[in-house]
Amino acid sequence: MSESRAKMAYADAEGRIYEHPDLEMLGWDGECWRPLEADELTPLPEGSDLFTLPGRLAAGYDAERDEVVVFDEPGTTAVSCFIAPAYLRTLLPAYETLDDAPALPLFAYSAVGIRDGEMVTATVRVDEDIRQDPFRFDIDDIAGRVATRREAHPDNRLIEHLENCALNYHCRAAQNYFLDRFEAPLPAAPTCNAFCVGCISLQPKGGDEQMVAAHDRIGFAPRVDELAEVALGHIARVGDDAVVSFGQGCEGEPLNQPLELEGAVRAIRRQTDLGIINLNSNASRPDVIRRLVDAGLDSLRISTNSARPEVWAAYYRPVGYDFSAVRESARIIRDAGRYLMLNYFVFPGVTDTEAELDALSAWIDEARVHMVQLRNLNLDPEVYLDRIAAVGGTGQPLGLIPWLSRLRERFPELTFGYFNPPRRKMGGLDADLRVSM
Ligand code: SF4
Repeated sequence: MSESRAKMAYADAEGRIYEHPDLEMLGWDGECWRPLEADELTPLPEGSDLFTLPGRLAAGYDAERDEVVVFDEPGTTAVSCFIAPAYLRTLLPAYETLDDAPALPLFAYSAVGIRDGEMVTATVRVDEDIRQDPFRFDIDDIAGRVATRREAHPDNRLIEHLENCALNYHCRAAQNYFLDRFEAPLPAAPTCNAFCVGCISLQPKGGDEQMVAAHDRIGFAPRVDELAEVALGHIARVGDDAVVSFGQGCEGEPLNQPLELEGAVRAIRRQTDLGIINLNSNASRPDVIRRLVDAGLDSLRISTNSARPEVWAAYYRPVGYDFSAVRESARIIRDAGRYLMLNYFVFPGVTDTEAELDALSAWIDEARVHMVQLRNLNLDPEVYLDRIAAVGGTGQPLGLIPWLSRLRERFPELTFGYFNPPRRKMGGLDADLRVSM
């Protein structure tokens, strides 16, 4: 590992990226810009993307003068990276936003620089699971398998929807379904009872942040037989390591389809006790969670940006429920002895604060959370920080690595990761606890 610091990167009007000869790379911890030590830097993980940041000037560090410099060479912009899955971003890019700058699209922007001719960033791998390593996906092979599966199930609208996800959105979960491995997606809901600021499946036209959803939300509610057919086929081909999950990026909130979900879980468990039936959800409907537990649901992954109700509400903009419903859903899973995970949207300057550490610790302790999945929040940093600061949710950043170490110290049994685990990786659960119906 090189001992040298990285240089600032910037781009010209054509998007070509350059290394500044003198200025050093800076990172933004959500509160201020700071230089990065050599041991904070990692070569850009394979599968990461590089972005120019329109209407934003790069900022660098002049070590000789010990001062920060905004690089305003005409026609140049700041750059950032969108790190590959299974990696946690630890610092935002440092840039100055010009008045007429557009909002940034829905990606997780990370600091990037150049060291010894190589792109580097501030990140740590949080899950060794290989299921979304980009070099393991052959699109021609996938296309062939899609055609075969569609031919075998011509009337299943869900498989038709997943064809679009796999071939056009390049969704790794949908691709793994057609590749008969790991986790299969079961998108179920065209509607949602929240309006997350960074929702990737639905953004209000002409919204105040002018952001565009990354993909279209599913336009119909799959029937019980369509959901069960996809799940049972996947479990039959993958075996007990299979995970089938309601709640995907291409849908609203699955709890809005209680009859379809309950019917599908019962239909699956009537035929097999193999695999894991998982629900990714905003956990807004404890009444439905209870019915799904009774039907045979194995695990729940609750998505949240915070354990503090005011910070959560500022992002989720819930309709007809509040954070107490989310905590009640967690308690129901705890009391039923099922596997409980948080899909925890991490953001420098919001997550790594004392207030969040204490609130999250209290929730993990109360609900006996088994796993925290550390996800980078996909949102324009200034849009998010402004919104969270308005409810007093920002604070003195502790640094994500030190923050994470303190959380680990408090909960040595807690699993950290990025992906929904198969049964054999569900630490803390009686591995033989099969929900037989
Ligand atoms: S809960 Fe999910 S589907 Fe609903 S608004 Fe939030 S991100 Fe979008």
